[in-house]
Amino acid sequence: MANEQFDAVDVIATKRDRGRLSDAQIDWVIDAYTRGAVADEQMASLAMAILLNGMDRAEIARWTGAMIASGERMDFSGLSRPTADKHSTGGVGDKITLPLAPLVAACGVAVPQLSGRGLGHTGGTLDKLEAIPGWRAALSNDEMMAQLEDVGAVICQAGSGLAPADRKLYALRDVTATVEAIPLIASSIMSKKIAEGTGALVLDVKVGSGAFMKDLERATELARTMVALGTDAGVRTVALLTDMSTPLGLTAGNALEVRESVEVLAGGGPADVVELTLALAREMLEAARVPGTATIDPADALADGRAMDTWRRMIAAQGGDPDAPLPYARHTEQVLAPADGVLVGLDALAVGVAAWRLGAGRARKEDVVQAGAGVQLHAKPGARVRAGELLMTLHTDTPERFDRAREALADAVTIAPEGSRPAGTAIVLDRIVAV
Ligand code: URA
Repeated sequence: MANEQFDAVDVIATKRDRGRLSDAQIDWVIDAYTRGAVADEQMASLAMAILLNGMDRAEIARWTGAMIASGERMDFSGLSRPTADKHSTGGVGDKITLPLAPLVAACGVAVPQLSGRGLGHTGGTLDKLEAIPGWRAALSNDEMMAQLEDVGAVICQAGSGLAPADRKLYALRDVTATVEAIPLIASSIMSKKIAEGTGALVLDVKVGSGAFMKDLERATELARTMVALGTDAGVRTVALLTDMSTPLGLTAGNALEVRESVEVLAGGGPADVVELTLALAREMLEAARVPGTATIDPADALADGRAMDTWRRMIAAQGGDPDAPLPYARHTEQVLAPADGVLVGLDALAVGVAAWRLGAGRARKEDVVQAGAGVQLHAKPGARVRAGELLMTLHTDTPERFDRAREALADAVTIAPEGSRPAGTAIVLDRIVAV
C-alpha cells in the first residue's frame, strides 16, 4: 500500500512472535483496517495471533482507544443528572435491562442504554421491546438526549457512528474463530461503552452453560480486563459475575420476557430476576455517586410504582403503547416431568437453543424474529416435581418447529431423588472492582 506508515505483515509478525505492539502500530492497524488499507485476511491473522499470544493491559487500552477513535463519541455532560449504564455479556432469559433502566432512572440517575439484537441462543433487548406494539428502536442522538433529560431512561439501537472499527472486526472474528480472545472481547465491548459516554458502567458478566464464558476463571479474567479498561478511560466501572447455568426467571422469548419484566415493575415477578435487578441497580447508583442516593433503596421504587411510571413514560416516548396487549404465539405444546423428585438442573443453553428454534431468535442477522415465540418455565431448580407435571410450555407461530425445540431440550432437565438439592443457587457469584 502506498505511503502507509507500517506494513501489515510486520505488525502480524510482531504478535506472532509474542512481541508487544507499539502504540503507533495499534493506532495504524485499526485505522488502516477501518479504511480498507489492511485486508480482511491480514486482520484475521492478527486477531488469531492475539488470541494465541494475548496482549498486555497497555496494549488492550490502546487497542480500545483506537477503536473508539474510529467513530463518534457521545457526550452526556449537558444532562442535569449523572449517567450510568449496564452491559450484560448475554444470557438466556436475561431481560434485566427492561426493569433496570426505568428503575435506576426513577432513583435519579439517567440511563442511556444502547442495545443490540440477538444472534444465536441469547436474546437481544431490542427484539424484546419490539414485541410492544408501536415501539421503535432507532432514535437520533437529539431524540435520545431529549428523552434522557425528560424521562431519564432510554433503551435504543446504537447508531452506526459508534466504534465502526469494532463492527467490521467483530464480523470478521465471527467467521475466523477469534471471537473468544479476551483482549478482543473486552476491547470490543468497552470501546462501544466508552464511546457512548456514560459516566458509570456496571458490567454483568455471565458465567455458565448459557453464557459466552462457560467457566468462572475466564469470566473473572474478562471482568477484570473490562473493569481496568473502563477505569483507565475515566468511567467508574464495576462488574458482577452472575450465574447463567440456568435461565433467568421463568421465560425466554421476546413478548414472554416483556410480560415478566412488567410483573417485576409491578412489584412481583420471579425472585431471581428481582434479586439481580436490585443488585445491579444498587451498583449503578453507587457508581454514579449521586449525592444522597446512598439513602435511596431501589426496592422502594419498585414497590411504590415509581419504576413502573418511568417504564410507561419510556415506552410511550418511543412510540410504544404500554397498555397494548402483548402478542401470544399461535401454538403451544407442553413439556412434562419424566419422573418424581427434585429438579436439580435446568440447563440454560438447552432452553436458549429451544427458544431460538421456536422462532424467538435469529441464526442470521437478516432473519425476522417471532414476538410470541419462546419457552415458559413452570419450575426452577430446587422445586419438587411429580411425573407428568407441567415443566415447560413451548410457544411458536410455526408448529413444525416443535420437534427441533424438543430435541434441544432432551437433556435439559435433571431430576434427582427426594431430598436432593441443586448444586448452587446464588445469582451473584463475585464482584470485581478496579485495583
Ligand atoms: N459482544 C461484543 O460486543 N463484542 C464481543 O467481542 C463479544 C460480545
